[in-house]
Amino acid sequence: MIIVLKKNAPEEYLDTIKETLAANGMAFDVLKGVNFTLIPVVGDFTQSDMGRFKAMPGVEKIINVSRPYYLVSKDNKEKTVIDLGNGVKMGEELFFISGPCSVEGAESLDRIASFLSKLGVKILRGGTYKLRTSPYSFQGLGEEGLKILRDVSDRYGMKCVSEIVDVRNLDLFMKYTDIIQVGVRNMMNFSLLKELGRVDKPVLLKRSLSAKIDDFLLSAEYLVAEGNENVILCERGIQTFDDTTRSTVNIASIPLIKSLSHLPVVFDPSHSIGAAKLVPVVAEAAVVLGVDGLMIETHYNPSNALSDGYQTISLPTFEKLHGRIRKLAQFVNERD
Ligand code: PEP
Ligand code: MN
Repeated sequence: MIIVLKKNAPEEYLDTIKETLAANGMAFDVLKGVNFTLIPVVGDFTQSDMGRFKAMPGVEKIINVSRPYYLVSKDNKEKTVIDLGNGVKMGEELFFISGPCSVEGAESLDRIASFLSKLGVKILRGGTYKLRTSPYSFQGLGEEGLKILRDVSDRYGMKCVSEIVDVRNLDLFMKYTDIIQVGVRNMMNFSLLKELGRVDKPVLLKRSLSAKIDDFLLSAEYLVAEGNENVILCERGIQTFDDTTRSTVNIASIPLIKSLSHLPVVFDPSHSIGAAKLVPVVAEAAVVLGVDGLMIETHYNPSNALSDGYQTISLPTFEKLHGRIRKLAQFVNERD
Protein backbone atom coordinates (compact mmCIF):
# COMPACT_ATOMS: atom_id res chain seq x y z
CA MET A 1 0.00 0.00 0.00
CA ILE A 2 1.21 3.51 -0.73
CA ILE A 3 -0.15 6.51 1.17
CA VAL A 4 0.02 9.69 -0.89
CA LEU A 5 0.01 12.92 1.14
CA LYS A 6 -1.58 16.14 -0.07
CA LYS A 7 0.69 18.85 -1.35
CA ASN A 8 1.90 21.01 1.53
CA ALA A 9 0.44 18.68 4.18
CA PRO A 10 1.80 19.96 7.51
CA GLU A 11 4.55 17.96 9.21
CA GLU A 12 2.33 17.09 12.19
CA TYR A 13 -0.06 15.20 9.88
CA LEU A 14 2.87 13.13 8.66
CA ASP A 15 3.93 12.47 12.26
CA THR A 16 0.44 11.23 13.21
CA ILE A 17 0.39 8.87 10.21
CA LYS A 18 3.85 7.54 11.07
CA GLU A 19 2.83 6.96 14.71
CA THR A 20 -0.36 5.15 13.67
CA LEU A 21 1.54 2.94 11.22
CA ALA A 22 4.16 2.08 13.84
CA ALA A 23 1.46 1.33 16.43
CA ASN A 24 -0.07 -1.15 13.95
CA GLY A 25 3.24 -2.92 13.37
CA MET A 26 3.66 -1.67 9.80
CA ALA A 27 7.02 -1.10 8.13
CA PHE A 28 7.18 2.05 6.03
CA ASP A 29 9.36 4.66 4.44
CA VAL A 30 8.83 8.35 3.67
CA LEU A 31 9.74 9.65 0.22
CA LYS A 32 9.51 13.42 -0.09
CA GLY A 33 9.11 14.61 -3.68
CA VAL A 34 8.62 18.10 -5.08
CA ASN A 35 4.84 17.86 -5.25
CA PHE A 36 3.93 14.87 -3.12
CA THR A 37 5.13 12.86 -0.17
CA LEU A 38 4.77 9.10 -0.61
CA ILE A 39 4.67 6.59 2.23
CA PRO A 40 5.11 3.00 0.99
CA VAL A 41 3.80 0.62 3.64
CA VAL A 42 4.28 -3.14 4.05
CA GLY A 43 2.89 -5.48 6.70
CA ASP A 44 -0.06 -7.71 7.50
CA PHE A 45 -3.01 -5.62 6.35
CA THR A 46 -5.52 -8.26 7.44
CA GLN A 47 -5.01 -7.38 11.10
CA SER A 48 -6.01 -3.72 10.96
CA ASP A 49 -8.37 -1.53 9.00
CA MET A 50 -6.07 0.13 6.51
CA GLY A 51 -9.01 2.03 5.00
CA ARG A 52 -8.89 4.42 7.95
CA PHE A 53 -5.76 6.06 6.51
CA LYS A 54 -7.94 7.44 3.73
CA ALA A 55 -9.76 9.51 6.32
CA MET A 56 -6.65 10.86 8.07
CA PRO A 57 -5.84 14.55 7.68
CA GLY A 58 -3.33 15.28 4.95
CA VAL A 59 -3.97 12.09 2.95
CA GLU A 60 -4.63 12.62 -0.75
CA LYS A 61 -5.20 8.96 -1.63
CA ILE A 62 -4.22 5.38 -0.97
CA ILE A 63 -2.81 3.17 -3.70
CA ASN A 64 -3.24 -0.54 -3.12
CA VAL A 65 -0.37 -2.53 -4.53
CA SER A 66 -1.46 -5.98 -3.40
CA ARG A 67 -4.83 -7.60 -4.07
CA PRO A 68 -7.29 -7.63 -1.18
CA TYR A 69 -7.39 -11.43 -0.83
CA TYR A 70 -4.62 -13.80 0.05
CA LEU A 71 -5.78 -17.34 0.92
CA VAL A 72 -7.37 -17.92 -2.49
CA SER A 73 -4.52 -16.31 -4.41
CA LYS A 74 -1.71 -17.93 -6.32
CA ASP A 75 0.72 -16.29 -3.89
CA ASN A 76 -0.57 -18.65 -1.23
CA LYS A 77 -0.82 -21.89 -3.19
CA GLU A 78 -0.13 -23.09 -6.73
CA LYS A 79 -3.16 -25.33 -7.27
CA THR A 80 -6.14 -26.82 -5.46
CA VAL A 81 -7.37 -30.23 -6.55
CA ILE A 82 -10.71 -31.38 -5.12
CA ASP A 83 -11.04 -35.14 -5.16
CA LEU A 84 -14.72 -36.09 -5.14
CA GLY A 85 -13.88 -39.76 -4.82
CA ASN A 86 -15.66 -41.09 -7.91
CA GLY A 87 -12.82 -40.44 -10.30
CA VAL A 88 -13.38 -36.68 -10.39
CA LYS A 89 -10.40 -34.59 -9.47
CA MET A 90 -11.51 -31.02 -9.94
CA GLY A 91 -8.55 -28.90 -10.96
CA GLU A 92 -6.70 -31.82 -12.51
CA GLU A 93 -8.84 -33.05 -15.37
CA LEU A 94 -11.78 -31.45 -17.21
CA PHE A 95 -15.08 -32.39 -15.58
CA PHE A 96 -18.74 -31.89 -16.44
CA ILE A 97 -21.61 -30.95 -14.19
CA SER A 98 -24.88 -31.44 -15.98
CA GLY A 99 -28.57 -31.98 -15.44
CA PRO A 100 -31.79 -30.00 -15.42
CA CYS A 101 -32.20 -26.51 -14.06
CA SER A 102 -34.56 -27.95 -11.42
CA VAL A 103 -35.22 -31.42 -10.10
CA GLU A 104 -38.71 -32.01 -11.53
CA GLY A 105 -39.41 -35.53 -10.34
CA ALA A 106 -37.78 -38.93 -9.81
CA GLU A 107 -38.54 -40.37 -13.24
CA SER A 108 -37.48 -37.36 -15.24
CA LEU A 109 -34.22 -36.98 -13.34
CA ASP A 110 -33.53 -40.69 -13.74
CA ARG A 111 -33.97 -40.37 -17.49
CA ILE A 112 -31.49 -37.48 -17.67
CA ALA A 113 -28.94 -39.02 -15.28
CA SER A 114 -28.99 -42.38 -17.00
CA PHE A 115 -28.12 -40.67 -20.31
CA LEU A 116 -25.44 -38.43 -18.82
CA SER A 117 -23.76 -41.16 -16.80
CA LYS A 118 -23.42 -43.36 -19.89
CA LEU A 119 -21.41 -40.54 -21.48
CA GLY A 120 -19.15 -40.43 -18.43
CA VAL A 121 -20.60 -37.33 -16.73
CA LYS A 122 -19.98 -37.81 -13.03
CA ILE A 123 -21.67 -34.82 -11.44
CA LEU A 124 -25.43 -34.32 -11.61
CA ARG A 125 -26.93 -30.90 -11.04
CA GLY A 126 -30.49 -30.01 -10.12
CA GLY A 127 -32.04 -27.02 -8.37
CA THR A 128 -34.26 -27.86 -5.43
CA TYR A 129 -34.90 -24.47 -3.84
CA LYS A 130 -35.27 -22.08 -6.75
CA LEU A 131 -34.88 -18.33 -6.42
CA ARG A 132 -37.31 -17.18 -9.09
CA THR A 133 -38.03 -13.59 -10.01
CA SER A 134 -41.75 -14.27 -9.75
CA PRO A 135 -43.34 -15.93 -6.73
CA TYR A 136 -45.71 -17.66 -9.16
CA SER A 137 -42.92 -19.48 -11.00
CA PHE A 138 -41.94 -23.05 -10.06
CA GLN A 139 -40.13 -22.82 -6.73
CA GLY A 140 -38.50 -26.25 -6.69
CA LEU A 141 -39.35 -29.47 -4.85
CA GLY A 142 -37.38 -28.58 -1.71
CA GLU A 143 -36.35 -31.50 0.49
CA GLU A 144 -38.19 -33.95 -1.73
CA GLY A 145 -36.05 -32.71 -4.62
CA LEU A 146 -32.86 -33.21 -2.61
CA LYS A 147 -33.87 -36.79 -1.80
CA ILE A 148 -34.55 -37.51 -5.47
CA LEU A 149 -31.23 -35.95 -6.47
CA ARG A 150 -29.39 -38.13 -3.92
CA ASP A 151 -31.20 -41.35 -4.92
CA VAL A 152 -30.70 -40.85 -8.62
CA SER A 153 -27.04 -39.85 -8.22
CA ASP A 154 -26.34 -42.94 -6.15
CA ARG A 155 -28.07 -45.15 -8.70
CA TYR A 156 -25.65 -44.00 -11.41
CA GLY A 157 -22.51 -43.59 -9.29
CA MET A 158 -22.69 -39.82 -9.71
CA LYS A 159 -21.99 -37.00 -7.28
CA CYS A 160 -24.50 -34.18 -7.04
CA VAL A 161 -24.75 -30.45 -6.59
CA SER A 162 -27.67 -28.23 -5.68
CA GLU A 163 -28.02 -24.59 -4.71
CA ILE A 164 -28.58 -23.55 -1.11
CA VAL A 165 -30.62 -20.39 -0.69
CA ASP A 166 -31.19 -20.35 3.05
CA VAL A 167 -28.74 -21.19 5.80
CA ARG A 168 -31.60 -22.90 7.69
CA ASN A 169 -31.43 -25.69 5.09
CA LEU A 170 -27.75 -26.41 5.68
CA ASP A 171 -28.36 -29.73 7.47
CA LEU A 172 -30.39 -30.99 4.51
CA PHE A 173 -27.67 -30.00 2.07
CA MET A 174 -25.04 -31.69 4.25
CA LYS A 175 -27.13 -34.85 4.21
CA TYR A 176 -28.11 -35.05 0.55
CA THR A 177 -25.53 -33.26 -1.60
CA ASP A 178 -21.84 -33.69 -2.43
CA ILE A 179 -21.24 -30.09 -3.46
CA ILE A 180 -23.20 -27.09 -2.19
CA GLN A 181 -23.82 -24.37 -4.74
CA VAL A 182 -24.05 -20.68 -3.88
CA GLY A 183 -25.84 -18.82 -6.65
CA VAL A 184 -25.50 -15.29 -7.96
CA ARG A 185 -28.01 -13.87 -5.53
CA ASN A 186 -26.11 -15.13 -2.49
CA MET A 187 -22.49 -14.60 -3.48
CA MET A 188 -22.45 -11.60 -1.17
CA ASN A 189 -24.45 -13.23 1.61
CA PHE A 190 -21.46 -13.20 3.90
CA SER A 191 -23.19 -14.83 6.87
CA LEU A 192 -24.14 -17.78 4.62
CA LEU A 193 -20.58 -17.92 3.28
CA LYS A 194 -19.17 -18.01 6.81
CA GLU A 195 -21.42 -20.95 7.70
CA LEU A 196 -20.40 -22.80 4.53
CA GLY A 197 -16.78 -22.05 5.36
CA ARG A 198 -17.16 -24.16 8.48
CA VAL A 199 -18.52 -27.32 6.83
CA ASP A 200 -16.68 -30.25 5.38
CA LYS A 201 -18.15 -30.20 1.88
CA PRO A 202 -17.01 -28.52 -1.35
CA VAL A 203 -18.76 -25.27 -2.24
CA LEU A 204 -19.37 -24.15 -5.82
CA LEU A 205 -19.47 -20.36 -5.69
CA LYS A 206 -21.04 -18.49 -8.59
CA ARG A 207 -19.98 -15.00 -9.55
CA SER A 208 -22.69 -12.50 -8.71
CA LEU A 209 -24.24 -10.42 -11.48
CA SER A 210 -22.65 -7.27 -10.10
CA ALA A 211 -19.35 -8.66 -8.83
CA LYS A 212 -15.97 -7.55 -10.04
CA ILE A 213 -13.40 -10.34 -10.11
CA ASP A 214 -11.87 -9.01 -6.88
CA ASP A 215 -15.32 -9.12 -5.20
CA PHE A 216 -15.79 -12.69 -6.44
CA LEU A 217 -12.44 -13.78 -5.05
CA LEU A 218 -13.11 -11.99 -1.77
CA SER A 219 -16.30 -14.01 -1.36
CA ALA A 220 -14.25 -17.16 -1.94
CA GLU A 221 -11.79 -15.83 0.64
CA TYR A 222 -14.66 -15.82 3.20
CA LEU A 223 -15.11 -19.56 2.69
CA VAL A 224 -11.42 -20.41 2.85
CA ALA A 225 -10.79 -18.06 5.79
CA GLU A 226 -13.34 -20.07 7.81
CA GLY A 227 -11.50 -23.29 6.99
CA ASN A 228 -13.20 -24.68 3.87
CA GLU A 229 -10.47 -25.00 1.27
CA ASN A 230 -12.62 -26.92 -1.21
CA VAL A 231 -14.05 -24.05 -3.18
CA ILE A 232 -14.89 -24.14 -6.89
CA LEU A 233 -15.29 -20.80 -8.65
CA CYS A 234 -18.03 -20.57 -11.25
CA GLU A 235 -18.01 -17.84 -13.90
CA ARG A 236 -21.47 -17.17 -15.33
CA GLY A 237 -21.39 -13.62 -16.59
CA ILE A 238 -22.49 -10.31 -15.15
CA GLN A 239 -25.33 -7.86 -15.77
CA THR A 240 -24.58 -5.05 -18.21
CA PHE A 241 -26.60 -2.66 -20.39
CA ASP A 242 -26.50 -5.22 -23.18
CA ASP A 243 -29.50 -7.50 -22.84
CA THR A 244 -29.08 -9.48 -26.05
CA THR A 245 -27.84 -12.37 -23.92
CA ARG A 246 -29.12 -13.15 -20.41
CA SER A 247 -25.82 -11.97 -18.90
CA THR A 248 -22.68 -10.58 -20.45
CA VAL A 249 -19.78 -12.91 -20.20
CA ASN A 250 -16.20 -11.96 -20.75
CA ILE A 251 -14.73 -15.39 -21.25
CA ALA A 252 -11.24 -13.93 -20.92
CA SER A 253 -12.07 -13.91 -17.21
CA ILE A 254 -11.44 -17.68 -17.22
CA PRO A 255 -7.66 -17.48 -17.80
CA LEU A 256 -7.59 -14.29 -15.76
CA ILE A 257 -9.20 -15.87 -12.68
CA LYS A 258 -6.98 -18.91 -13.09
CA SER A 259 -3.92 -16.67 -13.11
CA LEU A 260 -5.05 -14.99 -9.87
CA SER A 261 -6.33 -17.98 -7.90
CA HIS A 262 -5.36 -21.60 -7.28
CA LEU A 263 -9.02 -22.70 -7.04
CA PRO A 264 -10.66 -24.76 -9.83
CA VAL A 265 -12.74 -22.66 -12.24
CA VAL A 266 -16.01 -23.83 -13.78
CA PHE A 267 -17.89 -22.08 -16.56
CA ASP A 268 -21.67 -22.13 -16.85
CA PRO A 269 -22.62 -21.18 -20.43
CA SER A 270 -26.31 -21.89 -19.79
CA HIS A 271 -26.99 -19.13 -17.27
CA SER A 272 -24.38 -16.83 -18.83
CA ILE A 273 -26.00 -16.73 -22.22
CA GLY A 274 -29.58 -17.80 -21.67
CA ALA A 275 -29.92 -19.19 -25.21
CA ALA A 276 -29.57 -22.91 -25.87
CA LYS A 277 -28.25 -22.48 -29.39
CA LEU A 278 -25.18 -20.52 -28.26
CA VAL A 279 -24.33 -22.84 -25.37
CA PRO A 280 -22.21 -25.42 -27.27
CA VAL A 281 -19.89 -23.04 -29.08
CA VAL A 282 -19.25 -20.86 -26.04
CA ALA A 283 -18.66 -23.96 -23.90
CA GLU A 284 -16.04 -25.08 -26.43
CA ALA A 285 -14.36 -21.67 -26.28
CA ALA A 286 -14.16 -21.93 -22.48
CA VAL A 287 -12.40 -25.28 -22.79
CA VAL A 288 -9.84 -23.81 -25.18
CA LEU A 289 -9.31 -21.03 -22.63
CA GLY A 290 -8.32 -23.65 -20.06
CA VAL A 291 -11.41 -23.92 -17.84
CA ASP A 292 -11.37 -26.80 -15.30
CA GLY A 293 -15.01 -27.76 -15.65
CA LEU A 294 -18.31 -26.95 -17.34
CA MET A 295 -21.78 -26.72 -15.86
CA ILE A 296 -24.42 -27.20 -18.54
CA GLU A 297 -28.19 -27.48 -18.18
CA THR A 298 -29.65 -30.48 -20.00
CA HIS A 299 -33.10 -32.04 -20.36
CA TYR A 300 -34.68 -34.72 -22.57
CA ASN A 301 -37.32 -32.18 -23.56
CA PRO A 302 -36.08 -28.64 -22.92
CA SER A 303 -39.28 -27.01 -24.12
CA ASN A 304 -41.16 -28.82 -21.36
CA ALA A 305 -38.65 -28.05 -18.58
CA LEU A 306 -40.18 -26.42 -15.52
CA SER A 307 -37.47 -23.73 -15.46
CA ASP A 308 -34.85 -22.29 -17.86
CA GLY A 309 -35.92 -24.48 -20.80
CA TYR A 310 -34.86 -21.80 -23.32
CA GLN A 311 -31.22 -22.13 -22.26
CA THR A 312 -31.25 -25.89 -21.70
CA ILE A 313 -29.76 -28.15 -24.36
CA SER A 314 -31.26 -31.49 -25.31
CA LEU A 315 -29.50 -34.74 -24.42
CA PRO A 316 -28.47 -35.53 -28.04
CA THR A 317 -27.04 -31.99 -28.39
CA PHE A 318 -25.12 -32.53 -25.17
CA GLU A 319 -23.80 -35.85 -26.45
CA LYS A 320 -22.38 -34.21 -29.59
CA LEU A 321 -20.91 -31.36 -27.56
CA HIS A 322 -19.40 -33.80 -25.08
CA GLY A 323 -17.64 -35.64 -27.91
CA ARG A 324 -16.20 -32.44 -29.37
CA ILE A 325 -15.08 -31.22 -25.98
CA ARG A 326 -13.28 -34.48 -25.25
CA LYS A 327 -11.17 -33.85 -28.36
CA LEU A 328 -10.62 -30.21 -27.47
CA ALA A 329 -9.55 -31.18 -23.95
CA GLN A 330 -6.93 -33.46 -25.44
CA PHE A 331 -5.65 -30.60 -27.58
CA VAL A 332 -5.54 -28.30 -24.55
CA ASN A 333 -3.63 -30.89 -22.49
CA GLU A 334 -1.07 -31.38 -25.25
CA ARG A 335 -0.75 -27.62 -25.70
CA ASP A 336 -0.13 -27.10 -21.97
C1 PEP B 1 -28.41 -22.36 -11.20
O1 PEP B 1 -27.28 -22.76 -11.52
O2 PEP B 1 -29.36 -23.12 -10.98
C2 PEP B 1 -28.67 -20.90 -11.07
C3 PEP B 1 -29.80 -20.42 -10.62
O3 PEP B 1 -27.64 -20.15 -11.48
P1 PEP B 1 -27.27 -18.61 -11.17
O4 PEP B 1 -27.18 -18.47 -9.69
O5 PEP B 1 -25.96 -18.48 -11.89
O6 PEP B 1 -28.34 -17.76 -11.80
MN1 MN C 1 -31.32 -22.62 -14.39
